[in-house]
Amino acid sequence: MRERTAIKQAIIAAGKEILASGLVVGTWGNVSARIPEEPDLVAITPSGMDYNTLQEEDIVVLDFNGEVAEGFRKPSIEVPLHLAVYRDRPEVNGVVHVHSVYATAWAAARRPIPGALEDLVQIVGGDVRVSEYALPGTPELAVHAMKALRDRNAVLLANHGLLGVGKDLREAIKTCQVVEKAAKTLIAAQLVGGYVELSPEEITTMREFFLHSYGQR
Ligand SMILES: [Zn+2]
Repeated sequence: MRERTAIKQAIIAAGKEILASGLVVGTWGNVSARIPEEPDLVAITPSGMDYNTLQEEDIVVLDFNGEVAEGFRKPSIEVPLHLAVYRDRPEVNGVVHVHSVYATAWAAARRPIPGALEDLVQIVGGDVRVSEYALPGTPELAVHAMKALRDRNAVLLANHGLLGVGKDLREAIKTCQVVEKAAKTLIAAQLVGGYVELSPEEITTMREFFLHSYGQR
């Protein structure tokens, strides 16, 4: 149970961080993580609760069928979306969904965020595609999002927001932060003459470098 406690604390901290950094307002957005010692269980934020008042017991633990394994709160409406990621992507251990201003602008325009910035392609693996529209919380949204998330660590949900994933919760938050920054920068780039996309070869090289050589080893 110790690892469940640690993951719940990490989810609460992540919720406070996305709120404080302006990636969400109010109670929107949601955060989940796989429980390392119990990889068939996922812990997720409850539906519609203030991030700043969340306690450990408010976090809901679910299995991949969405059955509650622990907790008494109603889980986030986006459970189908989060569970689809964990089912399809065994390397993903953290998922963060936000409604940040600039990423959501691209989502509203239903235009992918182009692979035109080095940090973006390093952490996402290419451009950030837009999934086909579906209503929030529906199984259709999960299906469309998984299709657009293929080979990437982020996806825009049409007319809705951004989903970022990572090998852990920290990386999922960082993914959302980098995508939001790219979304803003590339809108500015359009004002100064337009952006230039990186080539597929350049993107692959930078992604590989990020995965295998970047940082302290
Ligand atoms: Zn949402």
